[in-house]
Formats: sequence, C-alpha cells, structure tokens
Amino acid sequence: MNYQNILQEIYQESLVQPKIGNIATYIPELANVHPDKFGISLTTINGDNFGIGDSNERFSIQSVSKALSLTLAFSLYGEEIWKRVGVEPSGSAFNSLVQLEYEKGIPRNPFINAGALVIADMLVSGLKNPKQDFLDFIRTTSGISTINFDEKVAQSEKNTGYRNAALANFLKSFGNIKNDVEEVLDFYFHQCSISMSCHELNHAFFFFANEGLTQKGIQILNQSQIKRMNALMQTCGFYDESGEFTYRVGLPGKSGVGGGIVALMPKQFIVSTWSPRLNSNGNSELGMFALEQLTTKTGLSIF
Ligand code: GLN
Repeated sequence: MNYQNILQEIYQESLVQPKIGNIATYIPELANVHPDKFGISLTTINGDNFGIGDSNERFSIQSVSKALSLTLAFSLYGEEIWKRVGVEPSGSAFNSLVQLEYEKGIPRNPFINAGALVIADMLVSGLKNPKQDFLDFIRTTSGISTINFDEKVAQSEKNTGYRNAALANFLKSFGNIKNDVEEVLDFYFHQCSISMSCHELNHAFFFFANEGLTQKGIQILNQSQIKRMNALMQTCGFYDESGEFTYRVGLPGKSGVGGGIVALMPKQFIVSTWSPRLNSNGNSELGMFALEQLTTKTGLSIF
C-alpha cells in the first residue's frame, strides 16, 4: 500500500473542500489557532511513518486525551470502573447535563464530559501526583519525553469552564465525585490542555492497534482490555456523531475540540488528523472527510 501517495491525494482533495465549520471559541485560547491548519499523519504497525501538511505541529488535544485517561484508569482499577460510568452511546452533546439527572449521576460513557470527569476523579484518587503521573503516562505510551501541558489553555478553560464546573458539582451531589471538585476540574483542564502533533498522537495511540503494546514493547493494557477500549471509541468516541463516524469512516477513534482526531485500524495503522474547523457536534469537519477518504481509498476499515 502506498500510503504517502494516498495521503497526498487526500490532502489535495481536502484543500478544495468548502471551508465548513468554526473553530472552538468557548475556550478563548483555542480561538488563537489559525482555522486553516491541516495535517494528516499515518503510522503503520511496522513503525513506518507518513505525513502531510501540518502533521508535525502541536495543537491542543482536548478530548482526545479522554482515551488515554480512561486507559490509565482501566489499568489501575479494571472492571470496577463500570460501577461509576456506563458503556452506552449517549446520543447527546459532549457537554450535556440532562441525562445525569435521570441516570442518578452515572454518566452514559467515559468520553462525554461527565464520564471523563468521573474518570479524572478516579485518577486523582489513585495517582500520587495526578497531573505529573498522567503526563508521564503519555510520555511512556508515546515514547516522547517533551510532551507537556499548555498552561495557557488550561487556565483559559478554567476561567470559562462553567459547564464542566456544573457537571462536576452535579456529579458530586450524587456522590460520584469523591475528591474536591476544584482539584478534579484542575486535573481535567490540564489533561485536555496537553499539546501534541498528529505524528506524536500516532505514537501515543500505537498500543491500541498493537494489542496493548507500545512501540517500545511496554504492555499498557491486555488484549481483552484493548478490545473494550476500541469498542468504546467506536461506539462513543464522537459523542452524538459516533454513528455517523462509524458509517462514514468505519474505524474506532477519538476527537477533540482542538480539531484533532485519532483513529486506528487494529494490527494495521494509526492515523491522526488536525483541522480546527468543527461541525455542530464539535468534531473536525475536514478531519472526518479525510478519514472517510482514507478508508474508502485503502479499502481498510474494521467493517
Ligand atoms: N476541554 C473540553 C471541554 O471540556 C473538551 C471537549 C472536547 O474536546 N470535546 O469542553
């Protein structure tokens, strides 16, 4: 398979697409990014790397981090996690408050904000130095020691994160946040602020495509747990657009409001895209287009 040629073709086709969607501005710092940034990077299971456009430029990974925080919590607590968060698609927006009332403080899944806040709470409980340990975990899965938080982005979200504060307090009222709400929010805003390039994301997500082993051979999760993680990314990774992403792209993946998407084909490749213009569901419009082209042109999808 000539991946570089395929990426080149997709890139050319993407550049002439209508510029649909808007950059996220509810976190003011994210609005400083140029909306026309665009990169794609693909890493094969053999370790070959292909990239085009802004694939080496770092951006705010935002909710892409939720797949990694869940992984760390899953490795610490195993199936216990599912007592406090579900595994069902939510069919509602990533920052929605409504279901929590009916479901008595048990979020539908770990990728909507409510679920990710519960996972953040578990990590605050289970890690000695939560923020540093989480950062070190991503440095370990990726093998890249320079990955860091973007304090400006974290602070910017803290200043305006009223919805997440509401969610965290609401969860606390049901007893599903154990730690101090401020501490959990601080952890969550920091995990979302992590800055990485498409290329770096491929390395960090390599183990999802490699039965739980990083590129350096470190076992992060076992095979059964990896099946579960990929299943969750497939069914819940794109919030109320998870069905659409599955229909068009056919790969498990995770998006973020910084415009990043990571998707993977087990035992074949990991692919990341970055384009900050988001559709109304908070997913990257051009990123979804590019990934749909990739699975169409290569004929490779899990379906
Ligand atoms: N930090 C963002 C928020 O909580 C992450 C949302 C996202 O990327 N979908 O609103």
